[in-house]
Amino acid sequence: MPLLVMKFGGTSVADLDRIKNVARKVKREVERGYDVIVIVSAMSGKTNELVGWVESTSPLYDAREYDAVVSSGENVTAGLVALTLQEMDVPARSWQGWQVPINTTSTHASARFSSIPTENLNAKFAEGFKVAVVAGFQGVSPEGRITTLGRGGSDTTAVAFAAAFGAERCDIFTDVDGIYTTDPRITDKARKLDRIAFEEMLELASLGAKVLQTRSVELAMRFKVPLRVLSSFEDTDDSSGTLLCDEDEIMESKVVSGVAYSRDEAKVTLVTVEDSPGIAAAIFGPLSEAGVNVDMIVQNISEKAGDGSVTDMTFSCPINQVARARKAMEDAKAAGTIRYEDLSIDSDVAKVSVVGIGMRSHAGVAAIMFKALAKENVNIKVISTSEIKISVLIDRKYMELAVQALHDAFDLDKAG
Ligand code: ADP
Ligand code: ASP
Ligand code: MG
Repeated sequence: MPLLVMKFGGTSVADLDRIKNVARKVKREVERGYDVIVIVSAMSGKTNELVGWVESTSPLYDAREYDAVVSSGENVTAGLVALTLQEMDVPARSWQGWQVPINTTSTHASARFSSIPTENLNAKFAEGFKVAVVAGFQGVSPEGRITTLGRGGSDTTAVAFAAAFGAERCDIFTDVDGIYTTDPRITDKARKLDRIAFEEMLELASLGAKVLQTRSVELAMRFKVPLRVLSSFEDTDDSSGTLLCDEDEIMESKVVSGVAYSRDEAKVTLVTVEDSPGIAAAIFGPLSEAGVNVDMIVQNISEKAGDGSVTDMTFSCPINQVARARKAMEDAKAAGTIRYEDLSIDSDVAKVSVVGIGMRSHAGVAAIMFKALAKENVNIKVISTSEIKISVLIDRKYMELAVQALHDAFDLDKAG
């Protein structure tokens, strides 16, 4: 029997009516002759609420207990979708991560898949069940504890199942009708793409475009999973939405193909650090051990002493990791492994990035980007570049303006 994976995000299962809508879409595919693996998120807002409860209870929480709490939203929607399908006479069964089992590493809160055995689900399909509804975002560690895959992880669950079961396609149903040149909520000039290259989507996702979790794109690319993003609120067919594909299948030839942003950034500066060989390792080692994901880094000679004996070290990290970062730095200072005068934290920054595989062969993108931001009087705090992207850290209050200005500067509203 051909098999489809259909993933429904939080807004798609936000209430019982929407769950009925999901069940109708799944039933339609069953009637077309498919077995279906449905991956569900928690109801929208639920995971945030659960995370909030954990953080209020224990600011520097034990990640095992975070996972125990935060994974629970998906259990509810998986059961409800299975029940709704049963009410529509579709034989369906729900599965939590440990029941499949979805085996992961024990890196709690950001676990990675190690294996997804297919026997249990296939045995149920062989019994005549048509749909397996799997709780997204969660798995089980080698120690037998519940894990989660990082925010947005249900996308990755979906792609991993599509790869493990050899699905014909993996459809990600969400609250927009495809992947756009930028978040359509920021500018109505955003243009829907029929196709996007894996490499570009990978970069956009890792720079904040949360329409797909980065890891899901990585897995789809590695296992050649046909992956599509489409709307759960519209009637869709086999040609709806945006398909991810290889670079050479893209007809567009734009240098920049998308703008991404990440609102939840913070900038941390160690002011007047005593400079000596090994200082970077002494700073970033403890940060990494504390689970802080450092993104951009800038080191510059401190203005205070021009002789090179001291330096300022600035890095950016997700805003919810600032408490951990501060503690790691204060502990290292107390232990005498690093010496600095002050720790300055700016929690009102955002990162805006332009992405395009065309940047590999075109110079001048940075100049256009910086000019467009200057025209809007947006001050750039930190810059970082790679082969196919340029990112800047700016004041968060200018984030939307910057995205709109860059979308205009690179003519992204026009097909090219
Ligand atoms: P779900 O709950 O279905 O997983 P998400 O909220 O995680 O949905 O992702 C969908 C959202 O991603 C959209 O509502 C949109 O605001 C946002 N988004 C960001 N960048 C893009 C983009 N380039 N194209 C489409 N949507 C985007
Ligand atoms: N519910 C989880 C989250 O909000 C996983 C997901 O929706 O993909 O991050
Ligand atoms: Mg999502």
